[in-house]
Amino acid sequence: MVKKKRHQRNTDHRRRLRQELAFPQVLDAMPDPVLITTAEGRICYVNPAWERQTGYFLSEIRGKNPRLLNSGKTPARVYAMVWEELAAGRPFFTDEIVDRRKDGSKYQIRATFFPIRRNGKNVFFVQIQHDITRHAARVRQMEENAHLYRTLIDDASDGILLLDIEARIVGANKAICAMLGYAPEEIIGQNIAAIGDPEDATPYAIRTAELLEKRSLLTERIFRRKDGRKIPVELHNKLIDARLIQSIVRDMTRKKELEKQRDAFIGMVAHEIRTPLLVLRNNAELINIVRNQDESVPLKPLAETLIEQVSRLSILVDDLLNLNRLQTGEMPLTKEPVEPASFLRQIAADMGTISGLHEIRLVGEADGIMMVDRARLRQVIENLLTNAIKYSPGQDHVDLTFARHDGEIVFSVRDYGIGIEPEEQKKIFRLFYRTESEDTRLLPGYGFGLYIAAQIVQKHGGRIWVESKKGKGSTFFVALPLAKGETGEERA
Ligand code: ADP
Repeated sequence: MVKKKRHQRNTDHRRRLRQELAFPQVLDAMPDPVLITTAEGRICYVNPAWERQTGYFLSEIRGKNPRLLNSGKTPARVYAMVWEELAAGRPFFTDEIVDRRKDGSKYQIRATFFPIRRNGKNVFFVQIQHDITRHAARVRQMEENAHLYRTLIDDASDGILLLDIEARIVGANKAICAMLGYAPEEIIGQNIAAIGDPEDATPYAIRTAELLEKRSLLTERIFRRKDGRKIPVELHNKLIDARLIQSIVRDMTRKKELEKQRDAFIGMVAHEIRTPLLVLRNNAELINIVRNQDESVPLKPLAETLIEQVSRLSILVDDLLNLNRLQTGEMPLTKEPVEPASFLRQIAADMGTISGLHEIRLVGEADGIMMVDRARLRQVIENLLTNAIKYSPGQDHVDLTFARHDGEIVFSVRDYGIGIEPEEQKKIFRLFYRTESEDTRLLPGYGFGLYIAAQIVQKHGGRIWVESKKGKGSTFFVALPLAKGETGEERA
């Protein structure tokens, strides 16, 4: 009841004021909030829409400075510009004002200011508002989304290109720039042919026609980096709209390399298996014939060859099995206390009988016990020794040493052979990796010995690495932690 009365009083008051100040009647009916001040900046009229928007009645704010609406969120320069323009008798328009309602809540407006001039002088200033809080929030949200998508695309690990329908590059993310070695501004605007390998025959236009028909297309191409290096890529092209193509680019270098290594590996294993199998069959047939015909012929050398070839095959098969177990994560360790000196002495003695010209020189001393899988660790050391012998043809010895260092036992296997180039030294621990120099090509191998060794060492919490100089020889190191209670600090 009280409210209604107050509203009526306010309406009457406004009407009187409006008539007094000679403002048109339409102001009262306008859906947009309107505020009018005197030339001195005192509020002299607001319409009902303004009251609804702000929560203030005309009666309570009449004569006050509109500053009471300041939220503190409007940039100061905006007010400065408003007053400058109005004082000069010009209208002003801004999207940047954030006002505060009586209840303290804030809202953003699109405001139009203009002066009412009489006899060449400003007498009133009018402000018509339009609430754009929701619109502004939407714009902000869109800007945030755009930023988010930009980040998403830029940080994607695959390369992403945007092409127009003539195959001109209009967008490129970080990954594609890194892949090609170009800065974005160097490729944007270029035709995709600029990054394609000239020998990669099918012109892009033909594929574009196919893409227009199918909308999405997976192709393989060769790109060419800024430094000239070729990279095989897989392109996943998608028509976004009639003008834009999205192209996701995956670098296939590593995959192609692996495929090549895998094919070489399979070829080698097949070859390695065929030779002993042939020998086995021939010898077995021979034994059969001899047994039937002439008992005086000694069978011993034939049997020995059989045994030798069979063990060659079983080493290969064991390695393949180990590899498979590693790949499938099924290589449990059976750890037991092992004392380094006697452990290595045993290996050196056993290997000595089959190492041919090479003498295995064991040097070192270290007390302490390791908790390791004896058979697996033996495999690691044997592999390093076999390599040392294989890759130092013409030499007469390899060195096997061990020592204790900061809670670890460090083994080393040193040869004086062909050595390894610095850039190969990390790669040789990868699966199927074999160096491609003249001197290694002739030596048999599969490229998984060091991979298996590294995996076993890692499973023991140890480290494996190599130091080498081309032509001078290599030293492989294996560091394994001492058993608990064996390290210096714990004993003290
Ligand atoms: P494999 O010897 O059967 O090829 P490995 O995994 O044992 O496989 O070794 C990987 C590669 O590392 C070898 O092909 C060889 O190029 C290189 N390599 C390993 N040991 C030595 C060594 N002692 N000296 C020189 N090169 C070596």
